[in-house]
Amino acid sequence: MKANRVHNFSAGPAALPLSVLEEIQESFLNFNNSGMSITEVSHRSKWFDDVINDAIERTKRLLKLDDNFEVLFIQGGASMQFCMIPMNFLHGNKTADYVDTGTWSTKAIKEARIQGKTVHVASSSEDKNYSYIPKDIEFTDNAVYAHITSNNTIKGTQWSNFPDTGNVPIVCDMSSDIMSRSFDPSPFGFIFAGAQKNIGPSGVCMAIIRKDMLDLVPEELPTMLKYTTFASKKSMFNTPPCFAIYTIQLVLKWLEESIGGLEKMEILNQEKARHLYDFMDSGDFYKATTEKDSRSLMNVTFRLHDEALEKHFVEEAIENDLNGLKGHSSVGGCRASIYNATTMDSVKALTDYMKHFESKNG
Ligand SMILES: *Cc1c(COP(=O)(O)O)cnc(C)c1O
Repeated sequence: MKANRVHNFSAGPAALPLSVLEEIQESFLNFNNSGMSITEVSHRSKWFDDVINDAIERTKRLLKLDDNFEVLFIQGGASMQFCMIPMNFLHGNKTADYVDTGTWSTKAIKEARIQGKTVHVASSSEDKNYSYIPKDIEFTDNAVYAHITSNNTIKGTQWSNFPDTGNVPIVCDMSSDIMSRSFDPSPFGFIFAGAQKNIGPSGVCMAIIRKDMLDLVPEELPTMLKYTTFASKKSMFNTPPCFAIYTIQLVLKWLEESIGGLEKMEILNQEKARHLYDFMDSGDFYKATTEKDSRSLMNVTFRLHDEALEKHFVEEAIENDLNGLKGHSSVGGCRASIYNATTMDSVKALTDYMKHFESKNG
């Protein structure tokens, strides 16, 4: 067994704050003096009710959501939302705009088309291997929504500013950067995030819905596939993923009470990303794969100047307690995921290792 925890650069499931893991461990057998584990108490109990209420309140405070928004927890991951969004919002001959920034956007488009929905790809960065975020996009005036992916976990790009879609509500996949920065929520009709990148364990997707979007949901959908069910039953029409929601609650508490909110978190994330990109830009041994103004602060994708060395780079990193640096199998190369819970110490350990590797192999 390893004596210490490693530096974790996994893309997801990903690193969680150590203090959160310790709190879970400490209270695991006897949650809040119930004499039971949080995994053993009823989802209808006062104990769990306090947990989910606190998670909702903290989400609203952190993201500055007013009472026009509802916070939901839905199983099936972010991928389930690719199917539920068009099913709930897009009907008849209406159109939705999608911006294709790679893998997850592409999958979202596919799931809408499977259902025979009318999808307009307003812009795509496929021409340059999804290495940038498109600019000056013309959105359709009367689209029901405009779907974007705020951070592209696999391609390593991120919207630094959200696009102006006029009156069209933005539907946004924030799976890999929710709670990493502050933003104005008012142009958003729907935000969703699989928890396992930045806010918790896998098993649940956080969904934030503006209440007027609920009016679009048809009555005749199956109960478990309707946002109205989740909104009217506080995500507890059936048994929710209690443990995952509990962990999210603790991560949100950590964000508020230890970090001090999203403005502070954003500064820390910028510092970590800058440290890593500046290091790579300072030489030619490592090369970021994305265009400078589109670089993700969460998933730093890069190649070695000699791609044949990459396998060795990743393996030797593991021997040095630096885990999860292999790029996604669909793109190859390397990727360091530096989500909220990854510390500057871990990022510095990574650049130290990169320097060392370069000096031996350069
Ligand atoms: C990981 C990821 C998904 C898929 O999440 P699941 O919860 O595994 O379905 C979707 N979108 C983005 C941006 C992701 O990073």
